[in-house]
Amino acid sequence: MSFRLLILSDVHYAATPADAVGPARRRCLLGRELLRRVLANARRRGGFDAVAILGDLLNRGDASDRTQQSLAELAEDLSAIGGDVPLLLVTGNHDGPAEQVYRALGERPGPQVIGQLRFFVFADVYDGADRCTRLEEDRRRFGEFAAAGEGPIVVLQHNPVCPAIDDDYPYMHTNREQVLRDYAAAGVLLSLSGHYHKGTEPTRVDGVTYFTAPALCEAPFCYSLAEIQGRQVDIRTRRLALESETPLVDSHAHTEFAYCGRDISAADEIDRARSFGLGGLFLVEHSPQLYVTKEAFYTGQHVRQPHLWRDGRHRRIDDFRRAVQPLRDGYARIGLEVELDADDRVILDDADRGWQDILVGAVHFLNKDHSQYSDAEMAAEFMRVNRRLIECGVHVLAHPWRVFTWFRRTVPTHLYGELADLLAASNVAAEINCHLNQNDPAFFRTCIERGVKLALGSDAHVPEEMGDLHEHLAFLREVADGRDLADLLAF
Ligand SMILES: [Zn+2]
Ligand SMILES: [Zn+2]
Ligand SMILES: [Zn+2]
Repeated sequence: MSFRLLILSDVHYAATPADAVGPARRRCLLGRELLRRVLANARRRGGFDAVAILGDLLNRGDASDRTQQSLAELAEDLSAIGGDVPLLLVTGNHDGPAEQVYRALGERPGPQVIGQLRFFVFADVYDGADRCTRLEEDRRRFGEFAAAGEGPIVVLQHNPVCPAIDDDYPYMHTNREQVLRDYAAAGVLLSLSGHYHKGTEPTRVDGVTYFTAPALCEAPFCYSLAEIQGRQVDIRTRRLALESETPLVDSHAHTEFAYCGRDISAADEIDRARSFGLGGLFLVEHSPQLYVTKEAFYTGQHVRQPHLWRDGRHRRIDDFRRAVQPLRDGYARIGLEVELDADDRVILDDADRGWQDILVGAVHFLNKDHSQYSDAEMAAEFMRVNRRLIECGVHVLAHPWRVFTWFRRTVPTHLYGELADLLAASNVAAEINCHLNQNDPAFFRTCIERGVKLALGSDAHVPEEMGDLHEHLAFLREVADGRDLADLLAF
């Protein structure tokens, strides 16, 4: 089994625009969100055994209360790493007092043994011009640590060590030659650095592999994973911005009008779609949520008591329209996620039709509580509702079959062909949706065979999900079986 070390650097988090100083390409304000994205992405792709953060977690750390507050926020995000996964934390020239960072995050520099590996985190010091020096005291401690034990050594510091970076900005240690000699003499396996935002490819010198990780805060927003087995090191850098042969469109992006969302907005959806490499998006809000209260929605009353959405007492659809229409252009289009009520009407007032670019049909509730249906009855009712939604002119069917898994009922897989035929006959797309949803490859392969186009819905409800179609792309490639992706997509 190899050891999987998650590596990230230069988050440059700033809580306010006042602290987000520096080049605009640094997305300081997204720091916390980027951290969460990295952890979620890495977890989905096989997980990790430890996390290394290589400094400049903050963009402008100092002794102020604002810095304390920012560190407390980051500590909260980093707690998502999980108590059993160790954190190796380096501080950088932007972090402010190192002791303050270590105190806030409950970590410290120096030696740490994890499994078979021996780590050493250096606390190099900076002068007024940000020139970096390895302390003699640290060199001595490291020498003793290296000599005292066995097992491969991984060293971590903020500044790059190798290759030398030729630039006006002071990147390299003032005593770099000594640092290089120390590592070679100790037989260091891997040396990790940050600070140089472009990063450099792994380089091997005197038996030591040197890697400088690119900054997380700048597009294409990278983190790296080092797999270490014995003295073998394999480092892969992964982008959070999508790399796709065909531009992908998110046809299901929620907004600040979603009762089910947290800290998301239409403007941020557009920003993230652009920042993370999408080809466009549809801002889509739940139409029932724009007609009834949160409580009524979550208990399915918009379906079971249709007068509630029709009486207009809790109408917010005009506010939604006013908010999103100014954002509409060739890149961002607008629409609604509609449902069917117990009177077999789509939950969308006639007077509210006409300005949407897209209607996404969804089944969240059936006319009766699911417990009142046998499996066969529930399947029949589900098909009836879908048939009616398709008749009413929806363009996409959101998360098909989710209502079954949602209520822990068996998915009637024998109906895959029948639903695919219905979709194909009316040119309605089937949505790949990874939000609390399992996409069955068998259904989507059936759709492809029968000529149904596919749509990709982030269905984002929290900031780190906005504009993230990585899972969708992986799934799409899986079911495409070598076909051209552009031929399969509705948008
Ligand atoms: Zn930096
Ligand atoms: Zn730095
Ligand atoms: Zn949705």
